[in-house]
Amino acid sequence: MAWDSIPRTHSFSLGDLHDFGRCVFKFFVNHHLQKKYELAEGNANQTIGSLLDLAIKKLHQNNMQNLPVEELLKLIEAARIDIKNEAEKRGKNSFFGALPPFLTDEVVITAKEVFKDYHQAVGGKYKPMVPTYIMRKLKPFWAYVIQTTPQPVQIWGAPDVIELGEDGVPEIVDYKYRENPADQAKMDMDLMPKVYTLLCARELKEMGYSKARFKVKFWLSPKEESFYEEFDLANMPNLEAFFKDKIDRILRTSELSFCEKDFCKVCKSSQRNQWIAQIQVAGWLGGSTPVKTAEEKSDLPF
Ligand SMILES: [Zn+2]
Repeated sequence: MAWDSIPRTHSFSLGDLHDFGRCVFKFFVNHHLQKKYELAEGNANQTIGSLLDLAIKKLHQNNMQNLPVEELLKLIEAARIDIKNEAEKRGKNSFFGALPPFLTDEVVITAKEVFKDYHQAVGGKYKPMVPTYIMRKLKPFWAYVIQTTPQPVQIWGAPDVIELGEDGVPEIVDYKYRENPADQAKMDMDLMPKVYTLLCARELKEMGYSKARFKVKFWLSPKEESFYEEFDLANMPNLEAFFKDKIDRILRTSELSFCEKDFCKVCKSSQRNQWIAQIQVAGWLGGSTPVKTAEEKSDLPF
C-alpha cells in the first residue's frame, strides 16, 4: 500500500507519539480528530526555530557551506518568505499556519543574530549534505510503511538535514532552538533518534551506508556534541518491530484518559465534551477500523 493512501489515523509523526505518551485525550483530539494545527497557537521562539531550521536546510540543499556569513544570513529572509507564503497558501490549519503573526522584524533579527553566533562558534565550517533522493527535494519528507493487519500503518516526518560526519558516517540531524538550558536536558533521546533513523534508513542503506548517527544540534549551544545515538542500519527490523508494537497499542486504546494538567489546552478546553462525543461516535475506541474522511489530505505536513 502506498504511503499516501494510508489514513491519517494510521499515520504517526514523532509529535503524535509524544502526545500519546503525555495525554491520551490530547492525542485523540490532535491526531484522530485532526485538531493539531487548529489548536496550535505558535510563539516567537517557535518561529525563530523554524526560520533557523529552514535556513540550515537551504544552506545544505544549495551547497552554500563555504559562503561568507553575510550571504548565509539571506537564507533567514528567504525562510521568512517561505513560511509566509506557505501559511497563506495552505491556511491556518497547516504546518506553518500559526507562525505568521510572529514573523516580525524583531524575530527575524533575533534569528539572524543566533545564526551569526552559531556560524562564528563553528568557525564557518559546515559538514557536507548526504544527497539522498529525498534530501534533495524542495520539501524533504519521509514516510516508513509498516505492514500490519488489518491494514498498514506508517511513521512519517522529516529531520532537518542528513550531514556527512567526519568519520564517513551519515548524521541525521535535527536542529533545536531552546532558550532554556533545562529544556535541552529534557530532550527526548529515546523515541526521536529511533523515529528519524528509521525514516532515513532505507535510503542510506541504498546509498551503501551500514551505520547512521542521529544527532541533535542546538542553535544556542553549537559546541554541544553529546546528544547523539548510533544505529547499525542492519538492525532496522528491530526498530520496525518496536514501532509496530507501539502503534498497535495506540490503536487498541479502549478508553480515553486525561492528563488534567493546567497547561493541557485539550483537557482544559470548553469543547472537551463535544470532542469526547465525536471520538465515541467515530468508533475509534476499542480498536475498530476508522473511517477515512474527505478532508484528510488537506493538511499533510509538507
Ligand atoms: Zn491533557
